[in-house]
Amino acid sequence: MGGAMHQGADGLNEYRVGSGFDSHRLVAGRPLLLGGVPIEHDRGLLGHSDGDCVIHAVCDALLGAASAGDMGVHFPSSDERWKDMKSLVFLDEVRRIVSTRGYAIENVDVTAIAQAPRLAPHLSAMRESLSKALAIEAERVSVKAKSADGLGAIGREEGVAAMATALLRRTRRERL
Ligand code: MG
Repeated sequence: MGGAMHQGADGLNEYRVGSGFDSHRLVAGRPLLLGGVPIEHDRGLLGHSDGDCVIHAVCDALLGAASAGDMGVHFPSSDERWKDMKSLVFLDEVRRIVSTRGYAIENVDVTAIAQAPRLAPHLSAMRESLSKALAIEAERVSVKAKSADGLGAIGREEGVAAMATALLRRTRRERL
């Protein structure tokens, strides 16, 4: 098994997959941001930061693929530094963490789950926003949306959730 797609003895071209999940409550008096994109709605997501669960799920997928902990480790809510922080700042930091560890981002796939608002009109803007923050081509980012079909808390419009998968490839031997 010596093909370029296989992990070499030096660890290069090792592929690593990670998954992420997050959910936040919808409340009055907050702006709604998903994937870093402001979305018109009567409520927004509650959180220590801006509550952008799409970005948080992507961050955890990337950190998980690198075995680099999760958002709670890097951006603890006990730290006032991260209060009301734009989640795009977290994503930029996570991009830096995985890059420093010698990984390139092959692709990211994320599904947002919301009963309301309807997210379909915002998917391409979210894709652009995420790919820009991750410094990868939009073609490497997929953003999908599902309604909850009226089921459970999300179906009652009490919150929004997101799940993400990320694939990393080791491009540098050294772990800095
Ligand atoms: Mg979160």
